[in-house]
Parts: sequence; structure tokens; C-alpha cells
Amino acid sequence: MAARRLGYRVHTLAPDHDTPTGQIADVEVVASYDDVDAVRAFAQAVDVVTFEFENVPAEAAAAAAEHAIVRPSGAALAIAQHRLREKTFLVDHGLPVAPFAPIRREMDIAPAAAAVGCPAVLKTVAFGYDGKGQVPITHPDAVAPAWHTLGRREAILEAFVDLACEISVIGARGVSGEWSYFGPIENAHRRHILDVSVAPADVPASIAALAVDATKCVMDALDYVGILCIEFFVARDGRLLVNELAPRPHNSGHLTFDACCTSQFEQQVRAICGLPLGAPDLLQPAAMANLLGELWEGGEPNWSAALSFPTVKLHLYGKTTPRAGRKMGHLTALADTAIHARQLVVQARESLKSQV
Ligand code: AMP
Repeated sequence: MAARRLGYRVHTLAPDHDTPTGQIADVEVVASYDDVDAVRAFAQAVDVVTFEFENVPAEAAAAAAEHAIVRPSGAALAIAQHRLREKTFLVDHGLPVAPFAPIRREMDIAPAAAAVGCPAVLKTVAFGYDGKGQVPITHPDAVAPAWHTLGRREAILEAFVDLACEISVIGARGVSGEWSYFGPIENAHRRHILDVSVAPADVPASIAALAVDATKCVMDALDYVGILCIEFFVARDGRLLVNELAPRPHNSGHLTFDACCTSQFEQQVRAICGLPLGAPDLLQPAAMANLLGELWEGGEPNWSAALSFPTVKLHLYGKTTPRAGRKMGHLTALADTAIHARQLVVQARESLKSQV
């Protein structure tokens, strides 16, 4: 939608028909991400390729790059889609992360458990998001069975962080290295899935500055073009740790549609098309609440109830099958303070369950 508003034609490639982007694209190609011939044909028909999903195989990004400009690069994608490469990259650039150890084989388990301690979280290195491929560990003896549960796939054991809160910064970097950012945004998760985001985040200025500096450092190091979200842990003891990188517009940035001078999607289009970046300014405190599939369990949600809050905005993505945990849309609320925005968005989401 942001691209069309700027006058571009949009093609999409995804494994399914009738995807949220496909519904409004000029051309919807249905192909698997590892069908490199389909990716090549797709890239031949466009000028610039980007992603809104990071688990696109490196071979597909390389095939697209033979025929079109690919932003962000396949190299950035390869780092962000693999937890071990990502952590190693962060440590190499002096950025703080939670203590971790790799587990590739059975014999790695005991040394990893000893090095990381308990409590911890065992995470597969690839295809993990929204808590998928993660097992909490409360006893060192639990690591081995948990690794078997995860299919003995390459994993990392990561120390559990006693969290004060979680924040994200969404950076935008243009072709000449110019950059800007949204955030920090404060994120609350429920069952490992983002639940509510609030801007501005209620964190000390020193923490906000560290998070912004870390985002710039990562984007410069990767010579990144496009939008990159960094999710951070703010520990109760005051440490700021990088949790993970998302090389695309991010769920925590969805409030930028309604609350910022330029949305994260418009900024993404501007960056990858070599246009000047727009002002990222937050025009008003805002909060975003995700609408997950379980909201449909009692039938169609009461949209009128939520929309009766005049500063609440509804965004539905056009996904046809509501499943538990599936992100179907979100609400954004604008208010005079971040606290009020959060209260309002939660209240509006609650009202969706009321009788129609
Ligand atoms: P992830 O997919 O790694 O971002 O994890 C999803 C969510 O699980 C995070 O946003 C946190 O709320 C929680 N989580 C993951 N790893 C840890 C950790 N090491 N310590 C505390 N909470 C965690």
C-alpha cells in the first residue's frame, strides 16, 4: 500500500494464494521460496526486491540478485535468520547479548549447560519466531530431553534474563548510508507472541540512547539498506541486551502507520528505492494491540464496539482462516500519554468480545 501510494507497481511472491500483500498487488506469484527458477523469473520482471519475511533461503536471495537489486542484501538476511550467526555477529561488534552456548551435537549439551547455567531457554537456530522452537529450561538435566523434543536440530542455550521490559528500535538506512529510526517502542509479550506495543517506551534516556546507537552500529556494519528492527531486553539489573534482529518492517512498528509522520512501510519503500527518508517523528503517544486468531472463537468480533473509540484505528490483514496465535490484524490507539494509549487499546480490544 505504501509503494502504490508512491506510484510504484508491486509484484509479490509467496507460497500461498490470496496472501495479505497478494490481495492488493498488481501481480501475485505463487511459488515456494526455494523454487529458484520462479524467483529468477519474478526478479526479471521487477527493479527492486525486498522481503517482509526473513526465512527466505539464501539461494533465493542470490537468485533474485542476479536480475534485480535486492535490499536488504542476502548477506544481512543470512545473519538475521540464524540465531548463532546473529549472536556471533553481535558479539564480534561489541554488542551485549545474553550469555549463550551452541548445541550441535549431544556432546555439546553438558558444557553448554555448565557455561550458561539455569534458568535458560533452548532455541533452535533457524525458523524460530513467536516462541516457536523454544523450550524453557529450569534444571540442567532438562537440556538433553528438550533438545530431543526440538528434533536434535542445531540450537543455542541462552541464559534466561530477568526482564524489566522489552523494547525495540526500528532503523531505516538509505543507499548512501543516511539513516533514521523509530523508537524505542515498549513491547509486552504474551506466550512469546507480541501482545501490546507502546510508544514512547518508558525507559531512561541512557537506555534509549544505547539502543539507538546499537541499531546504527548494526546497520552500518551490514551496509544495510531498508528497515531493520532490533528487539532488546532491558534486564532488571539495568543491562540492555540485544535479543534479535528482524530484517524487515516489524510488528512493533505497526503503530507508525497512524502515529508517525512516515510509516515504517513507507520508510522501507523510500530506502530500497533510493529515495530520501521521511521524518520518523511520533506525532502522538500511541499503543498497538495485536488481534490473534483466538479472538474469532466466539464468532465475528464486534468491530463496531472497538471503532466507537474515536482515536482507535482498525487494521485487518485479509487473512481468511483465524487460527490460535495467528496475527490477523491489530488496533492502534492514539492518546495524550503513552499510559492512556495503552489503556485505550486494551479496552478497545476487550470490547471486540462484547455481543454484536
Ligand atoms: P524470541 O523469539 O527469541 O524473540 O523470543 C520471544 C519472547 O520470549 C521474547 O520477546 C521474550 O519475551 C521471551 N524470551 C526469549 N528469550 C528469553 C530470555 N533469554 N530471557 C527472557 N525471556 C526470553
